[in-house]
Amino acid sequence: MASALGHVAVGAAVGFGSSSRGERRIPIWLCAVAACLPDIDYAIEPYVQAGSLWTHRGLTHSLVVHVVAVLACVTLLHLSPRGGKSSAWPRIAIGCMIALWSHAFLDAMTDGEPGVALASPFDPTRRFFAWRPIPVSPDSIGPFLGEWGLRVLKVELWFALAAWAVALIAARVQEHRARLAHRHLEAE
Ligand SMILES: [Zn+2]
Repeated sequence: MASALGHVAVGAAVGFGSSSRGERRIPIWLCAVAACLPDIDYAIEPYVQAGSLWTHRGLTHSLVVHVVAVLACVTLLHLSPRGGKSSAWPRIAIGCMIALWSHAFLDAMTDGEPGVALASPFDPTRRFFAWRPIPVSPDSIGPFLGEWGLRVLKVELWFALAAWAVALIAARVQEHRARLAHRHLEAE
């Protein structure tokens, strides 16, 4: 995996960039959590058959499953008496899906562990991207606190900075558009 810190940093950036000023706290938290969720398969793996799609980087890392999971959550929210009323939820849902996808993409850029089953269950092939600059993160805390972890964080820092740069630009563009719309309404 890419490290949990790397996933959280990129997920939080997605939450920031996909939400509006004054209502960013919940999206940032939700997207940061969503960006880590695919690695829940570490907890499942001891109980599933070797080579199955439930093993690490299988179904929980599939872009298809991420879309279905987010649509299921949106449907449940829509049916709930309170959640479906908020106009912020569609953007939060899109943010969470991008955060989930960011996990799969970062993992596909690591230099170790099995490839990512990006299109499972339709295509169970485990894939990596051609560009794999991220050293795979250790799956225990001991090695992560040493030279190995530092090497991972040094590379992931660049991805986190790039994600936050895009998020800040997206936020500025949104605010600019909101200001223009407001002025347009005032002029009418
Ligand atoms: Zn992962």
